[in-house]
Amino acid sequence: MRIVFMGPPGAGKGTQAKIICDKYGIPQISTGEILRAAVKNGTEMGKKAKEFMDAGKLVPDSVVIGIVKDRIKEKDAQPGYVLDGFPRTLEQADALKAMLAEIKTPLQIALNLDVRDTLLVERLLDRAKKEGRPDDTEPVIKQRLETYHSQTSPLINYYKKEGILVEVAGEGTLEEVTGRILGALKGIG
Ligand code: AMP
Repeated sequence: MRIVFMGPPGAGKGTQAKIICDKYGIPQISTGEILRAAVKNGTEMGKKAKEFMDAGKLVPDSVVIGIVKDRIKEKDAQPGYVLDGFPRTLEQADALKAMLAEIKTPLQIALNLDVRDTLLVERLLDRAKKEGRPDDTEPVIKQRLETYHSQTSPLINYYKKEGILVEVAGEGTLEEVTGRILGALKGIG
């Protein structure tokens, strides 16, 4: 099962991806988490990424494409994976398509979690209180939403054209959304 999870920041991608990965026994590949770990460990990549992340902007394509290219080759990712937060630009989507074509394992589904902006801001401010992520402040949240709308939302059409887009309503309780996602994934091996 090779899945991409898309959706604006605060849509619940990470939480839902984790539930789906546990259920199917496949790894969750979150570029955001990999980057946060790199920042924490003070690696060269982390130093490069930090200023973009703190500003709510996207880390350069070359950096994140490299991360994913290496990660999907690992043994645990051979039965499949959920890509959480990647791709976020058309260039990343094209790079992903090319790397998967090379190993003859195309994506099976691109799932878009749809949530209204007003609810997203509320959810992210609430998460800020609970988790204290440095990019969950109001001005950075606004910038992340703007980045999403200008650079990432065109991917919805991209995957529609590829014929693998599934739209799932991301509003409602966590369990309701999980139920809709599982319904959408039924029948995909
Ligand atoms: P996330 O945890 O997915 O919300 O990602 C947190 C931050 O990491 C984003 O605001 C970006 O700065 C950076 N990031 C994560 N994934 C990507 C990606 N695919 N492309 C560019 N930047 C990314």
